[in-house]
Amino acid sequence: MKKIIIAIDGYSSCGKSTMAKALARKIGYLYFDSGAMYRAVALYCMQQGFIVDGNIDVERLRAAMSEIKITFTADGVTGNSLTVLNGVVVENEIRSLEVSQQVSRVAALDFVRAALIDQQREMGKAKGIVMDGRDIGTTVFPEAELKIFVTASAEVRARRRYDELVARGTTPDYNDILANVVERDHLDLTREVSPLRQAEDAILLDNGEMTIEGQLEWLCEEYKKCVEE
Ligand code: C5P
Repeated sequence: MKKIIIAIDGYSSCGKSTMAKALARKIGYLYFDSGAMYRAVALYCMQQGFIVDGNIDVERLRAAMSEIKITFTADGVTGNSLTVLNGVVVENEIRSLEVSQQVSRVAALDFVRAALIDQQREMGKAKGIVMDGRDIGTTVFPEAELKIFVTASAEVRARRRYDELVARGTTPDYNDILANVVERDHLDLTREVSPLRQAEDAILLDNGEMTIEGQLEWLCEEYKKCVEE
């Protein structure tokens, strides 16, 4: 069967990675979480003291960009993908609300995007991948054979992120998360470089009322239609 690139874009916290991971596992594709890469750069900035009072020291980050190595490894027990920053697994750290509050500003920088997009294109060279993010179908792989654009209301998405953080053992505040989801949407939609938008040839999915199983079933159908064409 022909191998394709599957691009899943959409708003923050709308379950893109859950469905992307499940599909990849089912069809034997590699899964890449491009948002985790932007999160890792934001975490690096925080660790290095490049962000003071919400302001990024852009020149220090630019100078350090070539030192930032982001890779993925598989969890030995669950097989889940884990994000590695300069040799250290940072999967939990990059999901914190603190990182969520900084990441969209870091992701708006043109040199950060250029560096990560190069790496993302490398990951898709042999096809057979599912990648999720904001600009995968528009900028990273405009030639992707299957493009999905996912949306749901901000409240539904904040609730999902809240549940995810609780499952990770933290005690988040729902209103802080909702405010963060709304702010990230705004920053992602209005940035100059590669803003969040639906590619013309992407299929729209509003999953606000759908179960995870329902979404996977829908996505598998779209995949089948695409490879059998
Ligand atoms: O997908 P996730 O919510 O983890 O992504 C974190 C942030 O990274 C997003 O809010 C967005 O600002 C940025 N991002 C991006 N382009 C991508 C993936 C993520 O700008 N392809």
